[in-house]
Amino acid sequence: MQNQKIYHESKKYMPGGVNSPVRAFTGLNIAPPALVRGEGAYVYDIEGKRYADYVGAWGPMILGHCDEDVVKAIEDTANSSIAFGAVTELELRFAKLICDTTGIDMIRFVNSGTEATMSAVRLARGYTGRDKIVKFSGCYHGHYDGFLVLAGSGIMTQGIAGSAGVPEDHVKNTIIGEYNNVEQIRHIFEKFGEQIACVIVEPIAGNMGVVPAKREFLMEIRKLCDAYGSLLIFDEVITGFRVAYRGAREIYEIEPELVTYGKIIGGGLPCGAYGGKREIMSILSPVGPVYQAGTMSGNPVIMAAGYATVKKIYDNRDKFYTYLESLGQKLEDGLKKVFFEKGIKVVINRVGSMFTIFFNDNDKVENYEQAKASNVNIYRHFAEQMILKGNYISPSQFEALFLSIKHTDYEVEKFIEDVYQIF
Ligand code: PMP
Repeated sequence: MQNQKIYHESKKYMPGGVNSPVRAFTGLNIAPPALVRGEGAYVYDIEGKRYADYVGAWGPMILGHCDEDVVKAIEDTANSSIAFGAVTELELRFAKLICDTTGIDMIRFVNSGTEATMSAVRLARGYTGRDKIVKFSGCYHGHYDGFLVLAGSGIMTQGIAGSAGVPEDHVKNTIIGEYNNVEQIRHIFEKFGEQIACVIVEPIAGNMGVVPAKREFLMEIRKLCDAYGSLLIFDEVITGFRVAYRGAREIYEIEPELVTYGKIIGGGLPCGAYGGKREIMSILSPVGPVYQAGTMSGNPVIMAAGYATVKKIYDNRDKFYTYLESLGQKLEDGLKKVFFEKGIKVVINRVGSMFTIFFNDNDKVENYEQAKASNVNIYRHFAEQMILKGNYISPSQFEALFLSIKHTDYEVEKFIEDVYQIF
C-alpha cells in the first residue's frame, strides 16, 4: 500500500505525481513502485519488493545500480568539490577521454539530453546560417519546442505542434520525415535542401520502441547533407556507449558532423554533451557567435561519475559488449520461442542490450506507423504482470528495455519463464 499512498499524495504536489510523464504508469492498473534502493541488476521499492530492472533509469545504468567505482568517484569528489562553476581538471580529464576514444575533436558538457540536442541544433543553425531542421516521426530528441512537432497528414505537408505551447514559428521550421524512408528524404532535400541547417536522427531509435535505421537510410542522409551543405547530427543520447563503445557511429561506420550524448555519459547523474568537428564547435561562445551556457555544466561530481562510468566501459570494452550481446541474444531467442509456442504474434527488435517486444501483427517494425500498430492493451497487461512478478519494465510499449552488465543468465531465464506464465 505504501506505493499507492506515495503516488496518491505525490499527485497533490507534482503534476501527475511525477517529474517526467512516462513514470506515471498511464493506462496501467498498478501504482508505480516507489523505488528506494538499487543494487546491480535489481531495484527495490518502499514495500521491500525486489525487481530485476530492465528500465535502467531509461538508459544510464549500463553498469548496473550503484556500481562501486561510480559510487566511490561520487563520494570522493563530493568531499572536496560539489560545485564551483569554474575550470576543473575533472572536466578536462573527461573531455579528453571522450574525444580521444570516440574520435570527436571537441565536446561541450550540458545537463541533459534535451540541452545537448537543442544546443547542437542551434550550433548547426549558427554554422550554416539556415533555419530549417529535419527530424523523423517516432524519434525523440527531448522537449525543446522545435522537436515537439508532429507530421501533418500526407507526405511533406506542414507539420503540427506536438504540444500545447509550441509557437507556430518553431513548427514551420521543423520538417518531419518518415524513419527509414529513403525515397522521402530525397524529396525533402529536393524541395528544401538549401534551407536545411541539419538533419537530426536517432541512428538506432529507442523512443518508438527500438527501431534500428537501415544502413541505406543513414547513408542517403549522409550523402544529401554533403550535397546540400547541411549538417548531420546523430542523437546518441541512448545509443552512445550502449550499442557499442562509439555508439551507432561505430556500428554503421557513418560519421555525422555532430553527435549528442546523455544518459550513460553522466553515470546516472544529470549530464548531456554535444561534440564534433573542431571547425564547427569553435563557433560556440565564448570563442564564437553561437551562445550556449550553463551554471551546472561540467559539475565536478557529475564529471567524476561520468568519467568513472565511461572509463570502466572503455577499459573493458571488448568483453563488455560481447557479454551484453550474448545475454541479449539469449533473451531474444528465449522470448521468440515462448511467443511462438503460445501463438502470440510479436516483433522483437534488439540491438545489443536494448530491445523492445512489440505486440504487433506486422512481420517487422521499421518506422513509427508500424510501431503504432502495436496493441497497447496487450502491452499494458504484459507490463503489469511482469512488474507484479518482479521484472521492472517500461509501462509504455514505445520505449526500449535495457540490460546491464550486472544482469546474468539467471535474470534473463526468469524473465523468459515469467513471460511464459503470463500468456
Ligand atoms: N535524445 C534521445 C534519443 C533520448 O532518448 C532522450 C531522452 N529519453 C533525449 C534526447 C532527451 O534527454 P533528457 O531526457 O535527458 O533531456
